[in-house]
Amino acid sequence: MRSFRGGIHLYEGKQLAADAPIVKVAAGRELILPLSQHIGAPASPCVAVGDRVLRGQLIAEPTAFVSAGICSPVSGTVKAIEVRPLLRGKGMVIVLENDGQNESVEGFGQPRDYTSLSAEEIRSLVSAAGIVGMGGAGFPTAVKMAPKNADAIRKVIINAAECEPYLTCDYRLLMERPEKVLGGLKVMLRLFPNAEGVLAVEDNKPQAIRLLKELVADEPKLSVKTLKTKYPQGGERLILHVAANVDIDSTRLPADAGCVVQNVSTAVAVYDAVCASTPLISRIVTLSGEAMTKPGNFEVPIGMPFADLLEVEGGFDLEVAKLIAGGPMTGTSFTDWQIPITKTTGGFLALSYDDVSENPTTACIRCGRCVSACPSGLVPQTLATLAARGEFDKFEQLYGVECVECGCCSYVCPAYRPLTQNMKLGKYNVIQNRRANAAKK
Ligand code: SF4
Ligand code: SF4
Repeated sequence: MRSFRGGIHLYEGKQLAADAPIVKVAAGRELILPLSQHIGAPASPCVAVGDRVLRGQLIAEPTAFVSAGICSPVSGTVKAIEVRPLLRGKGMVIVLENDGQNESVEGFGQPRDYTSLSAEEIRSLVSAAGIVGMGGAGFPTAVKMAPKNADAIRKVIINAAECEPYLTCDYRLLMERPEKVLGGLKVMLRLFPNAEGVLAVEDNKPQAIRLLKELVADEPKLSVKTLKTKYPQGGERLILHVAANVDIDSTRLPADAGCVVQNVSTAVAVYDAVCASTPLISRIVTLSGEAMTKPGNFEVPIGMPFADLLEVEGGFDLEVAKLIAGGPMTGTSFTDWQIPITKTTGGFLALSYDDVSENPTTACIRCGRCVSACPSGLVPQTLATLAARGEFDKFEQLYGVECVECGCCSYVCPAYRPLTQNMKLGKYNVIQNRRANAAKK
């Protein structure tokens, strides 16, 4: 199997939730829907406090080309439009009070034949459904599905690597709803007449690979690509390297190399929006980690507070050392249980051991492990030091912005140096400087 340079082999922890079938969770009394759940301009509310809303109704509109709307997951009343604590700081949200009636907008859930739709109609349904990349990046899907030259796209790749430890939400979708994953892929292929569809799955999911291979056996335009299990195989650039044999850097999009990459949950959301008239109002979330009482996979309304999900699903041990939204490598630790589930929340982890706080940082011993592990071919030790010193020009000259923030360097460093944190700091400053310079021109 083709692989990529660098990367690491991690404890997977997937056995905790991999065999737990998806359980549907009903919304509680209140839902909190952030206006910014995606890359790009935040959505703008198109409802006012006191308005009654229906399930599936658009409650916030996209405000720019790169933006995404938000639809209501329940019927009820707009209780507030205000600033609330979110995973990363605070932000504007729409607070809905659920009336428990589940009254939907007209046509909600109606089946639709995608083969009778034009490419423009499909894009417009995906845009109206508020779909964004659900693997974590949150890039609006309708924009990704509208490259400059649709005829130049040769591959639509479903990124089913799910290389982050513990997370199993995409795996469960592959096992339980493969027809929707394939359906979403076929819908996307209608937009790209010269493309073939590839399902790229890590070889630690043999059952899913077997199932998908059976399902695509009679589909000449679809294939399954088995990937070597190595973190961060699910990174967009690394999937492209392995599954399409193309390399891009931060200056190029996958479409520039003739590819479109979509996550498994996103493919299902595309299928639901186009073929089942259902906007993106729920997602699969993995609850896992050694301190989680009942690890599993849950279909949860977008906007449900983490605390409500825990109340329904059993909570975690009091000895928990760390709570993380997302995977342990790229996720974000948090302490406020009221933060809501968003379109990009793949999981919540309750870990019983916190390596970061247990191990104090010591001096670099020049071992070079961070260099060997870096999948972007960088020298994290040097770059992180430059960023920490505020030498952002040098950081840029040494290609610091090519960092994909995977965390491999921090993971392997025997001196427990905060390499990834400093890489993020350096990238942030370089990008801000570039924006400021562009604005001056
Ligand atoms: S976080 Fe950045 S510098 Fe560190 S290994 Fe990953 S890509 Fe390389
Ligand atoms: S892995 Fe840590 S100790 Fe080794 S060279 Fe990199 S920063 Fe230094």
